[in-house]
Amino acid sequence: MNITILGSTGSIGASTLDVVARHPDKFRIIALTANSQAELLFRQCRQFKPRYAVLLDEDAAAQLRLMVREDGLNTEILSGAKALEQVSVLPEADTVMAAIVGAAGLQPTLAAARAGKKILLANKETLVMAGNVFMDAVRASGSVLLPIDSEHNAIFQALPRGYDGNLAGNGVRRILLTASGGPFRDTPLGEMQNITPEQACAHPNWVMGRKISVDSATMMNKGLEVIEAHWLFNASADDIQVVVHPQSVVHSLVEYVDGSVLAQLGNPDMRTPIAYGLAYPERIDSGVAPLDLFKVATMNFSAPDFARFPCLSLAYQALRSAGTAPAVLNAANEVAVAAFLDKQIPFLSIPRVIEAVLDALPVKAVGSLEDVLSADAEARRAAQRQIQRLVK
Ligand code: NAD
Ligand code: MG
Repeated sequence: MNITILGSTGSIGASTLDVVARHPDKFRIIALTANSQAELLFRQCRQFKPRYAVLLDEDAAAQLRLMVREDGLNTEILSGAKALEQVSVLPEADTVMAAIVGAAGLQPTLAAARAGKKILLANKETLVMAGNVFMDAVRASGSVLLPIDSEHNAIFQALPRGYDGNLAGNGVRRILLTASGGPFRDTPLGEMQNITPEQACAHPNWVMGRKISVDSATMMNKGLEVIEAHWLFNASADDIQVVVHPQSVVHSLVEYVDGSVLAQLGNPDMRTPIAYGLAYPERIDSGVAPLDLFKVATMNFSAPDFARFPCLSLAYQALRSAGTAPAVLNAANEVAVAAFLDKQIPFLSIPRVIEAVLDALPVKAVGSLEDVLSADAEARRAAQRQIQRLVK
């Protein structure tokens, strides 16, 4: 199998390369991409000898070109946003791991779908922003789409093989989407105003990039995942129940009408869903330790606290509003999270910014990628205005 990894220097990208390195007989890396991390991408090029490497940043790409030339590597270095799309549609790569963070992942991932690639989808923002456009492209080209987000990978595994997008027709009553509740599940509400970026990024169970770590702390991550599940499994907001499960061992469940509930369990390590996606429909070693149930010993489940985590309600609300609302939610969230990480706004202002933007912008229908991109741009401007107001 020949693979392009979009976002190879990130948390998911590194875990993907870890699994790939365990199976040199099965997988070949055709292209690696990153934002600006020339040094790390160079080390990956040395190890995996891709045909192409892309850096979004031109200066970083020039630096990488020099390093690659001095080392005598055969990797061709490209740069810019168009190059990300180019390596997503290469005829010599059959599989694309979509692991860029945020809206930047949309266009290259969509290009891969239009080209009929097998897509391992970690970039949930693609589905949140442009679910119908992306799913139409997947269907039109006959792409195989495999969810890498651990919850969606679990649901995919617990649904019947070849699931056709009809929950009721397959005897499914509900999807139960588990959530750890993040680092502030039990923090006294009075202390939540002073949460620092460092505290928000210290997730109890998962090691992840900074943006998704903050999303986990606000539970926006779960909100985005509800929308992601809607598009992947053709499930309505009412079909999806969030279940707080602090141990992060049960990765999600599917409840059937006969009372059966099927779950997928495992240690919280993204190499499991990544290996599942890479080898599908077979199974391969991922390097993840076997789950020790005796060590886990206890598993807890509870209902989500919507008052503590308003981002979760905002996401359900955006899903119900449909059209451009989820793209607006996503863009406002990205801007608010960046402002929080930059110490411009406090933690509790993240949902306030998003809510104000959702209230300010009318919901429009989405017929094309352009509709999504203009809603995204408008929401970013509106979010910046909200933040300026808060900073004053
Ligand atoms: P990360 O921040 O660790 O890595 C992001 C990658 O994208 C890096 O390689 C970076 O160079 C690249 N990138 C960033 N901005 C870019 C831009 N503007 N253009 C091109 N490339 C850019 O993020 P991550 O934690 O690996 O998450 C990646 C995606 O996977 C996100 O959508 C996240 O929601 C999803 N995801 C992550 C996890 C996890 O455990 N980390 C779990 C489930 C889903
Ligand atoms: Mg997840």
